[in-house]
Amino acid sequence: MNKPEPIKTQDQPLQLYAKREPVFNRRIDGKFRRIKWAIMVACLAIYWVTPWLRWNRGPYSPDQAVLIDLAHRRFYMFGIEIWPHEFYFVAGLLIMAGIGLFLVTSAVGRAWCGYACPQTVWTDLFQHVDRLIDGDRNARFRLYKAPWGPAKIARRLLKWGIYLAISFATGGAWIFYFADAPTLHHEFWTGTAAPVAYGTVLVLTLTTFVLGGFMREQVCIYMCPWPRIQTAMLDEKSLTVTYKDWRGEKRGSLKKAQKNPGEYGDCIDCNQCVAVCPTGIDIREGPQIGCITCGLCIDACDRVMAETGRPRGLIDYATLEDADNEKAGHPATRHLKLIWRPRTVLYFVVWAGIGLGLLFMLGTRIHTDLTVAKDRNPPYILMSDGSVRNAYTLRLRNMEGRPRAMEIGLEGLPAARIWSEDMDRSDAARTLRRTVAADETQALRVYVVAPEGTANQDFDFTLQAIGQAREHDEAKAQFDARGDE
Ligand code: SF4
Ligand code: SF4
Repeated sequence: MNKPEPIKTQDQPLQLYAKREPVFNRRIDGKFRRIKWAIMVACLAIYWVTPWLRWNRGPYSPDQAVLIDLAHRRFYMFGIEIWPHEFYFVAGLLIMAGIGLFLVTSAVGRAWCGYACPQTVWTDLFQHVDRLIDGDRNARFRLYKAPWGPAKIARRLLKWGIYLAISFATGGAWIFYFADAPTLHHEFWTGTAAPVAYGTVLVLTLTTFVLGGFMREQVCIYMCPWPRIQTAMLDEKSLTVTYKDWRGEKRGSLKKAQKNPGEYGDCIDCNQCVAVCPTGIDIREGPQIGCITCGLCIDACDRVMAETGRPRGLIDYATLEDADNEKAGHPATRHLKLIWRPRTVLYFVVWAGIGLGLLFMLGTRIHTDLTVAKDRNPPYILMSDGSVRNAYTLRLRNMEGRPRAMEIGLEGLPAARIWSEDMDRSDAARTLRRTVAADETQALRVYVVAPEGTANQDFDFTLQAIGQAREHDEAKAQFDARGDE
């Protein structure tokens, strides 16, 4: 008796994660490869050089052009200095960065992923190391399949050593943005830097080593939220790398095409587009989340088309709408024209508007700030002559890189006088002067005394930088007196 065949289910369980298959991408040269090189060199150069740039801010402030000074809670960027109470500037820059990514996606698709994302840059660098040490695609594949032996171990150790060196030089360089770079560099190599510096370098080196050296495209597919956000943002007018199947299909080798003229399309099924892909996908299967739109498959296919005497662009940057038009026999739209569409213009207007707003605020902000905290316990003190005294702590902020004389005054509260705890009460007046050190906040405890019979009321403390009419600030305060109890 025949055993019944097991029933095969069509629906396989949904797999949320697939183990990484190693990618042995082939070396390729071409227009997009050269653009990738240029952007990689530019990104790394900017990243490495920036902390070493100097910017003269006078003798009282650091001279590092870009510095995140956590100890003093300041952010310096060339001529701009952001204080903690001005965090809205940083928030504005972050919003601009977010909208900038939307703008880039709307204009040129996933160009950020393909060219400038740090994960892409590191993966690209490490793939070049793979080629340098193990050889191109076939040699790497053979070595991968070969059993472990002294030669393979030596190559692996050498390669991982270079990975580590790159990870240390790139990931580790991040610390120079948080302290004076030359000083920290010296301290780091003489073993006198703070433990947090060594800890940070260790963590960043190891994460770069693992993410760029071993996880690679898994980071883009499973860890990074940006591909999902971008996928939701793409529409039929978004530029993406497209295989023109109406032109390429039916695929067949050159031999077959020559034997059966008219039966085959332009794709000779040489797999060069797959062989060069850094994420190991076949773009002929349609748009996919693993495609970072780096354009290397375009370079590979253009080369094949040139060698076989066919027009370039079987794989090319195109929009879905454009692809449909081309399929219907209409000419392709020029890429520059595709970029200027309402959505891109809107993003640009919002992005530029926020930028201009921030620039305006930076240009018009004052470098003097006053805050007041009132003593609550006791709220007032009755003096022997019947007058009433309230105490306050003022914080005088001098945001310029030089010491400045400032005048503290009272607005409202007629007949009241002010003096500070380091003065004699007999010197009390409507104003008092202090010099605030460069780039510092000075705390000052002051007393305000008003004549007998003064009612509870609001008034203002004022702060005026001497000789600078625009540098003025005021802060509201409350005066408590027995009369309203
Ligand atoms: S490189 Fe071009 S011709 Fe070769 S398989 Fe890919 S699409 Fe076809
Ligand atoms: S399919 Fe082409 S564009 Fe997409 S990641 Fe691979 S090589 Fe880059």
